[in-house]
Amino acid sequence: MFIDDDEGTDDALLTHQTLIDTQERLGALLDLMPTGLIIHQMQGILYANQQACFLLNESEESLIGKHILDFTGDDIRDTCSELFMSSFVEDHPIQFPQIKLSTYPEEPRFIKVTAGRLPWEGTSVVQLLLEDITELKIKADELENLTFHDVLTGTYNRRYFIEHAEKMVEKAIKDKSCFSLLIFDVDWFKKVNDTLGHLAGDEALKSIIEVWHKNTRNIVDNTRDSDGKLARIGGEEFAILLPNLDMEKAKYVAERIRKAIEENIIEFEDLRFNITASFGLTELRADDVTLDDLIRRADIALYRAKEQGRNRVECE
Ligand code: GH3
Ligand code: MG
Ligand code: MG
Repeated sequence: MFIDDDEGTDDALLTHQTLIDTQERLGALLDLMPTGLIIHQMQGILYANQQACFLLNESEESLIGKHILDFTGDDIRDTCSELFMSSFVEDHPIQFPQIKLSTYPEEPRFIKVTAGRLPWEGTSVVQLLLEDITELKIKADELENLTFHDVLTGTYNRRYFIEHAEKMVEKAIKDKSCFSLLIFDVDWFKKVNDTLGHLAGDEALKSIIEVWHKNTRNIVDNTRDSDGKLARIGGEEFAILLPNLDMEKAKYVAERIRKAIEENIIEFEDLRFNITASFGLTELRADDVTLDDLIRRADIALYRAKEQGRNRVECE
C-alpha cells in the first residue's frame, strides 16, 4: 500500500484496526456465510471470507493485496473498473455485470458482484458481495436453448430465426452492407413419410443439419459469425442467413447445399435413400425496410423453384 503522509498512515491504521475488530467479533460468522465477502480498498483486497476464497480459488493470504479486477474477464474489465470506482462514492449498492470466473478452468463459475461503500473511519473501503449464480446461469442457458432450438434437429427454430434475422437485417440496412436470405423446402416430403415412414422422414430432416455443417465450414467463413445461420422455420422448411454475401456469392452457397443434399445418402435402419430440396434466394435491396420484404421475395423464388421442377435454386 502506498502511504505518503502521516494523515494517510493514521487512516490506514484506523482501517486496519476496524478490520481486526470486525474479524475478531464476526470472523466465524463471516466464514460461515454462503455469500463471498471481500473488504476492498481502492488499491486491493484487505479481507476475504472463506466463500470468497473458495469462489476465487485462492487462500486468504494470497488474496490479500490482489484486486477484484484481476478476476474479471478482459471484455468487462473497463466497465467493472468504472463501477468499482463509483462504489466508493455512491450511497447505494452497485451491481457489476455477471463475471465468468476461470479459476476452475474445467468448470467455469459465474458470480454476481455487488459493491457497497462501508461507513468505516479511515481510508475508504467497500464491501463486495460475491454470489455464486452458476446454477442459475446453467438453468437460464438451458431455457434459452429450449426457447431458440428445434428439438428434432437441434438447429435454431423459427423464433430464433425471426428475432436474430430482424436484428441482422436492421444492421445490414444501417451499415449498407450485403445480406442474402435463402429459404428452402424439402421436395415431395409427404411422399417420403408415406412410403418410408415418419421416422425415416425425421432422419432425413436431421441429415440436412449435418450436410449444412459439412459444407459450410469454408464457404461462409468470410463472415465473422459463421455459426447460427441455419434455422428450421417450418416442418420441412429451412432458412439460411447469409450476412455480407451478395446474391451472386449466396447463389454459389445455395447451389452447393442443394447439390450436397441431393448427393447425401440417408441411412435409416435398412433403408438408404436421398432427398432433394428447392431453394428461394433473395438479397437485401436499397428500398427494403424490414425482414418481411426479404422473406416475401424468397418465398416467391421458392414457389417458382417448385413450379419449375424442384431441386433447383431460384432468385428473386
Ligand atoms: P413439395 O415438394 O411441394 O414441398 O411437397 P411436400 O410433400 O414436401 O409438401 P407438403 O407440404 O405437402 O408436405 C410436407 C410434409 O412434411 C407433411 C408433413 O407430414 C411433413 N412433416 C412436417 N414436419 C415433419 C417432421 O417433423 N417429421 C416428419 N417426418 N415429417 C414432417
Ligand atoms: Mg416440401
Ligand atoms: Mg413445406
